[in-house]
Amino acid sequence: RVEVLPEEHGIDLALVDARAVSVVQTLKSAGHEAYIVGGAVRDLLLGLRPKDFDVATDATPEEVKALFRRAFIIGRRFRIVHVVFGRGREHEVIEVSTFRAYLDAADADHVSGNEKTAKQDLAHSKHAVDASGRVLRDNVWGPQEEDATRRDFTVNAMYYDPQTQVLVDYHKGIQDARARVLRMIGDPAMRYREDPVRLIRAVRFAAKLSTRGFKLEAKTAKPLMAMKDLLADVPQSRMFDEMLKLLQTGHAIASVQQLVQLGLGEGVYPLLDLVVARADEPMVRASLADTDRRVDEGKGVAPSFLLACVLWQDVLQAWERRQSAGEHPHPALQQAIDDVFTNRIGDVSGRGKLAADMREIWLMQPRFDKRTGKAPFGLVEQPRFRASFDFLRLRCETGEADVTLADWWQTFSQGDDGTREALVQELK
Ligand code: ATP
Ligand code: MG
Repeated sequence: RVEVLPEEHGIDLALVDARAVSVVQTLKSAGHEAYIVGGAVRDLLLGLRPKDFDVATDATPEEVKALFRRAFIIGRRFRIVHVVFGRGREHEVIEVSTFRAYLDAADADHVSGNEKTAKQDLAHSKHAVDASGRVLRDNVWGPQEEDATRRDFTVNAMYYDPQTQVLVDYHKGIQDARARVLRMIGDPAMRYREDPVRLIRAVRFAAKLSTRGFKLEAKTAKPLMAMKDLLADVPQSRMFDEMLKLLQTGHAIASVQQLVQLGLGEGVYPLLDLVVARADEPMVRASLADTDRRVDEGKGVAPSFLLACVLWQDVLQAWERRQSAGEHPHPALQQAIDDVFTNRIGDVSGRGKLAADMREIWLMQPRFDKRTGKAPFGLVEQPRFRASFDFLRLRCETGEADVTLADWWQTFSQGDDGTREALVQELK
């Protein structure tokens, strides 16, 4: 255990979120240990303003919940508390996790491959692994030192007390941060086996921190390609979420590069494989670059837009096939979209909303061709007009549609009623 003082680590307290500080204070006033932990400490050390804050404590989830007005225990595999501040769009969540014991596969309850007995075993277990060593449940509390050891990278395993401004480091995270090294704690292969999602996390941090000069340590990078098959056993919804973190946190282009470089360009997760395979196609490339730029500018990004771009060619193909078979254009497009969802997306959390948004973007495309009568006036009033128009703009930029079409709609959408009327008349 090394304690690093403020003059040595140089963290700027102004970059620390006031809510995170108040959570730490509340826990400490109640007699518990509490620190800011994980990626936030890493980012602070690099002089970056963290976008979210995690707090680690020796209080149990029940004890944490009791200390805050709005706090919710969430998760089963990994129980944590969400402490919520503010409401609506402005709301902010501080994630509070209880120090966990470091338990390797040998100490865990082994859950058998038999589905029925596996469910029973798991129901009574706080720490369980499956036959391959994958951790299924991780809810055994322990001392801070062990909590540090079960984290993934050394630079993600530091603790910072915003009151005393002392940084606590067990795994030379501060040296690695200075040397710009991403190093897995412990034996990398074993850590990947415990939780194969760490393979993707390695890619994500390598991409995110590449602009800061970070490199994966050789031993940490080496097993990545050989172990990628383990990802097949990760629940699809978790893979989908991890994919979105790769693509929507401002490092989409860098992530695709890292995936290819590290040998994870295929065989990782069907939808992600597809993004990598299509990353150089104009429409996909443009939407990835666009996403990175928007995150950089602090604007919101929607997974629906990016995925609508990635899967657009599948929609076009299925649509054409159905029309050649004699189906009418509109129902053929509806059906084509259903085909694409079934074949490419599968069952993932939040799919309902995502699918509805993607469907609207796609269904609106043929409507941009209808510029007579009242049709254009109705179209601009649609709630998803903006996203659908941005999509049209990309289709024009990549040569699929004529640029004058996007220009016309841009002028139309920005004009008053008189201008709009004139634009429609001009076409005659
Ligand atoms: P980001 O900047 O993208 O939020 P982060 O490092 O904060 O990155 P989180 O997913 O928010 O990543 O997780 C917070 C911390 O929890 C990590 O820094 C790490 O210490 C620990 N952690 C998260 N996921 C894992 C995992 N799969 N295995 C081990 N430790 C993990
Ligand atoms: Mg985080």
